[in-house]
Amino acid sequence: MKGDEWEIERDLVLKKEKVYVSKDRNLRLEVIWSHYNVLVAEHRERRKTTELMMRNYWWSGVTRNVGRYVKKCNLCQRIKNRTEASVGKLMVNEVLKKAWTHLTVDFITKLLLVVEKYVILIVCNQLSKMAHFMITTGETSAKELARLFRDNV
Ligand SMILES: [Zn+2]
Repeated sequence: MKGDEWEIERDLVLKKEKVYVSKDRNLRLEVIWSHYNVLVAEHRERRKTTELMMRNYWWSGVTRNVGRYVKKCNLCQRIKNRTEASVGKLMVNEVLKKAWTHLTVDFITKLLLVVEKYVILIVCNQLSKMAHFMITTGETSAKELARLFRDNV
């Protein structure tokens, strides 16, 4: 606690006129709680809680501590409304009538290097689940992939 930002006033240590909260985990949690818990059903969000606290209190890592505290609030996790859009109704997939009209294409990458080929291109028929596996490299161009597809599927 060096420099002219620090003062002692009565029993309080101040930094830039804010009360320094000593490195006591329970005390810091209590300070956060007193700024966070307005009403049981109305907890403040992280930014507002931090802003209100930092008007009067300070410690190293206060913003991070408040963020974690708010994120982990058990009550909020149970009762707050979700803000993302709902997923909607489940839809039944179209029943396919003919093989090889609907495909899934994927790569298996980061394989151990075997004869300079370390990527597997997988083309799978969605109806029968029959699949073709083609070995290639990570540097394969779109044109070369198209050729692999044409020659093997
Ligand atoms: Zn909460």
